[in-house]
Amino acid sequence: MLSTKLDELRTRLEEIYDLKGITCLLEWDMEVLMPPKGAEARGRQMSTLAAIAHRRATDPALGTLLDELSDDDSLLPDDKLMVAEAQHDFRRATCLPEAFVREQTEAHSNGYSTWTEARRANDFAAFKPALERNVELARRAADYFGYEQSPYDALLDHYERGMTAARLRALFGPLATSLKDLVARIASSPSKPDVSWLDGTTWNLPAQEKFSHRVLKDMGYDFDAGRLDVAPHPFCTNFDLADVRITSRYFEDMPFSSLQSAMHEGGHALYEQGFDPDYRGTPISDAPSLGIHECNSRMWENMIGRSLPFWRHYIGVFREHFPGQADAITADQAYAAVNQVAPSLIRVEADECTYNLHVIIRFEIECDLIEGRLAVGDLPDAWNAKYKEYLGIDVPNDANGCMQDVHWSAGLLGYFPTYTLGNLYAAQIFEKILADMPDLWANVESGKLLGLREWLREHIHLVGRRKMAPEIVETITGKAPDSAAFLRYLETKFGALYSLNGK
Ligand code: ZN
Repeated sequence: MLSTKLDELRTRLEEIYDLKGITCLLEWDMEVLMPPKGAEARGRQMSTLAAIAHRRATDPALGTLLDELSDDDSLLPDDKLMVAEAQHDFRRATCLPEAFVREQTEAHSNGYSTWTEARRANDFAAFKPALERNVELARRAADYFGYEQSPYDALLDHYERGMTAARLRALFGPLATSLKDLVARIASSPSKPDVSWLDGTTWNLPAQEKFSHRVLKDMGYDFDAGRLDVAPHPFCTNFDLADVRITSRYFEDMPFSSLQSAMHEGGHALYEQGFDPDYRGTPISDAPSLGIHECNSRMWENMIGRSLPFWRHYIGVFREHFPGQADAITADQAYAAVNQVAPSLIRVEADECTYNLHVIIRFEIECDLIEGRLAVGDLPDAWNAKYKEYLGIDVPNDANGCMQDVHWSAGLLGYFPTYTLGNLYAAQIFEKILADMPDLWANVESGKLLGLREWLREHIHLVGRRKMAPEIVETITGKAPDSAAFLRYLETKFGALYSLNGK
């Protein structure tokens, strides 16, 4: 009798999962293959599907079934967890009234198109009403979700369960101070990596793609359960555990940028390909947070792809892909080229040392907006003042200032901190990986990357949502998430690259 109820739950969850997979397939096609005239119909198809998926996810019969199953103590521990997590998703999906969801969807899509135009015209005043609306809706959503201390906590919870604004302030405050100090020491260092060999060079695009393909294969990305395609923005999407796709983009004058994108998205994809197949389509086979997802992508992109041992092996592979053109380039030159540090205006182009300052600025502004200390009209001034304070940069215009990111236009508030959390989790976990696998660097140096994938599979991928992100970090490292390991990592790496003395 009970197993029948559990079967019914699995059927319902897998249906919702399939509908999500089909939506992802439509989105992937829209970015990769769709002809321009298909856009209108595609928008319609996706909202039709979204409505069907929402109806299934909020079906009162699903709620009743979950209530019944949650009272049953005879369930196996994993099944009990599956029920609890499905119940969490059900509550989250049903606590917003339908009229409010419609209002939100409309405001976000209007916000996105308004932002696209306003950014092109560098006209913040044109974007302001749409952003005001999104902030107001985010506050109302927080009220519906409920929170203890700050309405920001309710928004954050959607992306990083269990994290709070207060906890982030305690993490990010000291981190910002240390990063500012490190960036200042790098800026005043007379020793700068020489990257002049890159000036005026061009790099064949199909060869770049083949090089990325080769590294992804070495990482253990399963091309029989995925594809690498070209899209304007790199992303990873999941139609099913057995079909996880990634996209990258290629620039003729930047030989390494496409590889970094591919390794980043590849890190996300290995996670998605590595979920527990026994719980396919259920919340158990899913990531508990965006931060822990980003931990995987950044570990591959930065800690491996921007390491010297990696380049000691892959410079040879790189030369094979660009015959005659890269013969004189050394591993040290490539390593220096992918690790240049300089404060800059644009987050997505920032290096490992300055990147998190961009994120911390956005976190502080989001808190001020949501907690009512900052009016949207004052956003450009607040933004520019923080860029001066944290990065020493004068922001020339709003298009490249407070309007540079898409997130706020689409109502994504509380999302940015997950990028920095991913960096912190990655560094903290990587110290433990090195302790567990003393030969990791020797293996990387001979092009053997699979060991890392296996470790991550066992300790993170297969865990899925059986644990939340802070719990995963704590189980692995014995400590709650903090920034100490990340700062140690930066000091060691960039201290050597920029010959920094002192602390
Ligand atoms: Zn990512």
